[in-house]
Amino acid sequence: MQGLMMDTPLVVTSIMRFAERNFPASSIVSAGPNGARHRYTYGQAFRRVRLLARGLETLGVRPGDRVATLAWNDYRHFELYYAISCSGAVCHTINPRLFPQQITYIVNHARDRWIFADPMFAPLLERLWPEFEGPKGVVFLTDGVGMPETDIPGARDFESLLGTEAAEFAWPDLDERTASALCYTSGTTGHPKGVLYDHRSTVIHAYAACMPDVMCLGNRDTVLAVVPMFHANAWSLPYACPMVGADLVLPGPLMGDPETLSDLIDGESVTVTMGVPTVWLGLLAFLRSTGRTVESLQRMVVGGAACPESLMRAFRDDYGVEVQHSWGMTEMSPLGVMNTPTRALDALSREERDRVRLKQGRGVFGVEMRIVDDTGTKLPWDGVASGALQVRGPWVCRQYFDPDEDDPAHRPDGWFDTGDVATIDEFGFMQITDRAKDVIKSGGEWISSIALENAAMGHPGVAEAAVIGLPHPKWGERPLLIVVRAAGVSVEKAGMLEWLQDKVAAWWMPDDVRFVDRIPHTATGKIAKTELRRLYGNHPLPDAEEDS
Ligand code: ADP
Repeated sequence: MQGLMMDTPLVVTSIMRFAERNFPASSIVSAGPNGARHRYTYGQAFRRVRLLARGLETLGVRPGDRVATLAWNDYRHFELYYAISCSGAVCHTINPRLFPQQITYIVNHARDRWIFADPMFAPLLERLWPEFEGPKGVVFLTDGVGMPETDIPGARDFESLLGTEAAEFAWPDLDERTASALCYTSGTTGHPKGVLYDHRSTVIHAYAACMPDVMCLGNRDTVLAVVPMFHANAWSLPYACPMVGADLVLPGPLMGDPETLSDLIDGESVTVTMGVPTVWLGLLAFLRSTGRTVESLQRMVVGGAACPESLMRAFRDDYGVEVQHSWGMTEMSPLGVMNTPTRALDALSREERDRVRLKQGRGVFGVEMRIVDDTGTKLPWDGVASGALQVRGPWVCRQYFDPDEDDPAHRPDGWFDTGDVATIDEFGFMQITDRAKDVIKSGGEWISSIALENAAMGHPGVAEAAVIGLPHPKWGERPLLIVVRAAGVSVEKAGMLEWLQDKVAAWWMPDDVRFVDRIPHTATGKIAKTELRRLYGNHPLPDAEEDS
């Protein structure tokens, strides 16, 4: 027997309509260069979205076309999110931090028809243009005055595309399975892979993001999105904030600049913010060196890479900010788990609770997860057994867009293999111990590079730490700790190893410590382990020869 409820499609257009009717006065503030701020309301934003949709029509954009963006977090990028998707085309966000060859691969693979780009990317686009196969031209996110000098054919400015006529637009009635957006993973192995979101997955994911035990977003919040709109939908904030009418603050090109972030938090009375650990480590160092505070800030969601314990403690204990760890992936829209304490944890000591808070988080309704061993057997949720983490759910990618390689991650039984290795405890809290490809196997046992990095980062003399496995004749692999010293603090190998002694198992102790000026990062802010292995893979471990 079928139910008798209305068949209203879950489409991004409905978020826009709802926000415009219910929260026309909620604001979007974007930071520009030299301290400039652009501010307007959702009402004004969605009026411009209609003008932009008409502009897209005049460019010849048709339903299903891919329209690329190469842009920072700002109001014009927000307008593109809605105008492109709601007119039935696909908003393809490109990460400008990728290698130029990857950008070319992505533009051609997606068969992008137009590119909307920040003017600062004009030289890059000019260089790559001869390699691009599909795009008809570039629209620069500026007005006539800010238009860069360029000989890219079809180049024009965003504001003239919008025009000023009465802002009516007949939005198409879309099937909820229509593709809405496209984002490529950064492709640390092989080519980048396209994740094609649809309207339905986007709406359900944004609903989930707002829930109290997830990101707990509400109308009274002012949300600073330090997660880039060019990667994994900025963790759904451009959809979730309009859904509840929260004010949205966008840091523009200065996303990684701690002073800008601090000014925005103070100036806009930001209550909640989200970003990757490196951004918050930068903000912490800035607050400490300037004596500034973040009075309005209540919560900080940290994900994309493991949140160091030192970061969580510093913001909680010294600045009164609750730090919520989370984990996700481009393939998961990106929300996977969120660390919000449950009642069951009340019975634990403060120390035990803190240990749980450092885990990546617990399940969110909409994502099922399991851990399995090498034979595919399900492992228990006991906090000890660790195995391959697999997920499934309505906002998890079913298959990559037009894959040109085998795709073993999407399993025939309907689960997606995340490539992460994890434990899940009896309270349902999941902890990532490693990326499968970064796991260090010593004497047949796994050493968690993430746990080692975390422990090392707690040392006051450490600005950043990374661990890689090096080949070892006796043990198979042994860990090498790579450290960037904090400014003005001197730390040596002996001091580092002594610091770790009561924090990790004896056999996890790094065989050596290498001090470097900088640790390379990927385009999504993660430690670039492949690059580290290339740079330091030949580092001689002190005892390797005697041991053999
Ligand atoms: P990329 O394009 O770099 O793959 P993603 O954002 O999709 O970008 O990366 C997802 C991966 O990032 C996860 O599979 C996991 O390895 C890592 N990751 C994300 N959040 C965390 C976290 N909180 N702790 C540890 N690793 C994380």
